Amino acid sequence: MRYFTFYFLSLLFLLSSCSSKIKTLTVRSFDELSENVTSQRVPDDFKSTCREALNYAPDLDYPLEYYQHEVEINVHFLDAEKGKFNFERSEGVKYFKAMMKNAIMRLRVNEKMRLPEGNDTPVLPANYTYVLADMETEVGRSPFAFHKDQELYWFLNKGKNRNNSDRRVLEKYVQDKDQVLNVFIQPTHPDSVASKTYTVDITGIAMGTSVKLAGIYELGLPAWRHATNLNHEIAHVLGLSHSWYRNDGCDDTPPNSNCWSATGRAPCEGPVSNNMMDYNSSQMALTPCQIGKMHRNFHKINSKQRKLLIPLWCDKDETQSIVVDHDRQWLGSKDLMNDVVVKSGKTLEIYCRVSFAEGRKITVEPGATLKLYNAHLHNDCGDNWKGINIQSNDNESGKIEMYGECKIENVQ
Ligand SMILES: [Zn+2]
Repeated sequence: MRYFTFYFLSLLFLLSSCSSKIKTLTVRSFDELSENVTSQRVPDDFKSTCREALNYAPDLDYPLEYYQHEVEINVHFLDAEKGKFNFERSEGVKYFKAMMKNAIMRLRVNEKMRLPEGNDTPVLPANYTYVLADMETEVGRSPFAFHKDQELYWFLNKGKNRNNSDRRVLEKYVQDKDQVLNVFIQPTHPDSVASKTYTVDITGIAMGTSVKLAGIYELGLPAWRHATNLNHEIAHVLGLSHSWYRNDGCDDTPPNSNCWSATGRAPCEGPVSNNMMDYNSSQMALTPCQIGKMHRNFHKINSKQRKLLIPLWCDKDETQSIVVDHDRQWLGSKDLMNDVVVKSGKTLEIYCRVSFAEGRKITVEPGATLKLYNAHLHNDCGDNWKGINIQSNDNESGKIEMYGECKIENVQ
């Protein structure tokens, strides 16, 4: 009994000493923090930080912040009503899956840039992948639809009957076009395939959130040969331009002669580009700026690219936290699944929009500082998060400083 009393008393002491030691103030709105708003404005150097592509390039040191995004795709095979110019269902499904698997592998292994010569451009993973999405098809729900359409089945990207930019096939068959990237696989017109003067190309075009691909069935090549064309056209949808031009918005993709391969003669004496957004035999390299551009679109509220993603940021992850244990600057928008903890003595600066999954929170430990510069903290899933917990002990308190126009929304 004596032991029990002692144990009970010391437990009580422990509990009360803990609760008096750390106090927590939860911030749900910034109105109550008006004294934390500094008169200083956001420094000019950081005015455009949320729009800089490089601020969205994946940083492998922080996998919880830069996780792989998943683009939903479905696939339509077009064929004539009479004759066979494209795959049957079973062979088409198998062929496309092989092509997609190879394309995903190429996004993951990304290759070093060959241009400019002697460059030290970092090699980062593209950090996005493709996931098949079901739609209504002739056999029920499936990611693969097979359409017979005498008028719209074929594709030509040159000559007088060129129809590559004709939207009718998309308008007729597209499904879930705001949520799913629709891939159309069309054969080159059989009359052109039969013509001795026509060269059948591996080709395609991106239009809105759809892509058309051609040269697949009729060339009879192994599936992996079409993987880079799939990646190229999808990258157009995700926001990339051709990179041989000067104005593609990236300093790390030098203008070039867009040579297919090195011939030893000008202008293709070599080395030639291996960038995915040039036309070359490799198409294996994406630069940090190109990857950043696509991820900037993924993080832009209401962008067409964001709507094509599975919203992984709406799945809360309670098993681990993002621990800020050295000074950090978050210079681009983020969509987080985890709690964030700013450790004592450290500073986290947030410059853009950050979405927190349901029930997540930021903890600012005693002696830690959270600086907000035009920051917008919210939940982009129609749920609530738990706001900012500012902790204090007998000696010191966590601090918040706000610069410019900051917003906090959707807090429980
Ligand atoms: Zn292109």
